[in-house]
Amino acid sequence: MKEDKKTLQRMLDGQLPWEQLKPIIGDHKDPNRFDAIIEILQEKLNWKEPIILPLHEHLYIVSKNGERIVKCDCGYEFGDYRINWKTKCKIRVRDTFEAIEELYPKDMGCDPEWEELREYFCPGCFSLLDVEAVPPGYPVIFNFLPEIDVFYENWLGRKPPDKE
Ligand SMILES: [Zn+2]
Repeated sequence: MKEDKKTLQRMLDGQLPWEQLKPIIGDHKDPNRFDAIIEILQEKLNWKEPIILPLHEHLYIVSKNGERIVKCDCGYEFGDYRINWKTKCKIRVRDTFEAIEELYPKDMGCDPEWEELREYFCPGCFSLLDVEAVPPGYPVIFNFLPEIDVFYENWLGRKPPDKE
């Protein structure tokens, strides 16, 4: 178990997002793995709200005052997890050739008439949380809305920590 925790710790050093964590957790051979991962993540954070699910790089769904909110590792709170956290971000839109050429060599980037790059930053720590490459006017993408209760019941066979 101790060895296992060390391995997981190494794996999590880059703080894996949920999409990568899920297949690891999904290994039914070790039902303690999810708890070990949560424990490792929680130890790294400077705040105490219990993690319900890791959501995205830097972001967690946590339990606070009976609510499920999205919280950044820096402590910034995005509010209800069912509302797209991106709407609270600082956003930079690269929709000109000049702005796109800061990232790509000349003529290697997208045509801003057809595609723009949207960069989403945490308002608390200014970490770059996500980038969308979408046609201008395209709605903000909602990456992932987890079925928290279903996940806990079907995968872990128990209730989430805020419903215990
Ligand atoms: Zn942050």
